[in-house]
Amino acid sequence: MSDDADDRPDEPSRNISGGPEGGGEAVVYGDGEPETRAEAVVDELGAMYWQKAYGGQDGFECLVRTILSQNTSDKASQPAHDSLMSRYGERGDLAESLGDAAQDELAETIASAGLYNQKSETIIRLANRVVDEYGGEAGFDEFVKTGDPDEVRDALLEMKGVGPKTADCVLLFSGGRGGVFPVDTHVHRIARRMGLAPADADHEQVRQAIEAAVPPEKCGFGHTAMIQFGREYCTAREPACLDGPEACPLVAHCDQVGIDELSGAVVDPAEVVAED
Ligand code: SF4
Repeated sequence: MSDDADDRPDEPSRNISGGPEGGGEAVVYGDGEPETRAEAVVDELGAMYWQKAYGGQDGFECLVRTILSQNTSDKASQPAHDSLMSRYGERGDLAESLGDAAQDELAETIASAGLYNQKSETIIRLANRVVDEYGGEAGFDEFVKTGDPDEVRDALLEMKGVGPKTADCVLLFSGGRGGVFPVDTHVHRIARRMGLAPADADHEQVRQAIEAAVPPEKCGFGHTAMIQFGREYCTAREPACLDGPEACPLVAHCDQVGIDELSGAVVDPAEVVAED
């Protein structure tokens, strides 16, 4: 860890990682120079925010949390998660409890997360699958934490309603697997703007580019800190550098693809490629 840990902001209490209560330990790594630009970016993000190694969350709860977070903010999904856990988490095995849930009741419970009909249907279906294939949340948890990472990822992706970001979040926050850098909309945008991945790369291509360039132990905090950076600085419509290069702490590492500081125009990096 760098020395200035005390100067960093606290990890938001509402965070896909579960925030400060979501588990995780400080990452310790050497002081060597970064070998790639992506690693240099992640090092700076770690110095600005936090450097935690994740893992340890219950596998099925983590899956449910990530489903709830789809297409919404952590601010909206966290209360839904809390309501779900207080209603169904005290009834024994969470997967069994949710597999038996009445959909209208579950939908009402998670309403704050949005898309509650679709999400409640997905959660009940996944809960039943976890019970059928793994015998419940404990068996699923063991599979996520000890199974071969590629097999776990493939098994998760076979489940209807689970996409690459959800699978990678479960591998990271529950399985504690190093070298997993989930790509959400913030990471997808920032990596292509900065030139860490091709401008027209899809989510999977961005994941591959970053995971190949960032050491495994730095991927977990790199993911959560990059999301925070996307909220604070490199936002979708008004990236900080439109106020001048000094407004962004990472400008020295950035190609600013799709950003025109003079006119203030901001386009998706893929549009820049399409124009060439
Ligand atoms: S320089 Fe602009 S585009 Fe690049 S990371 Fe900073 S805010 Fe984003």
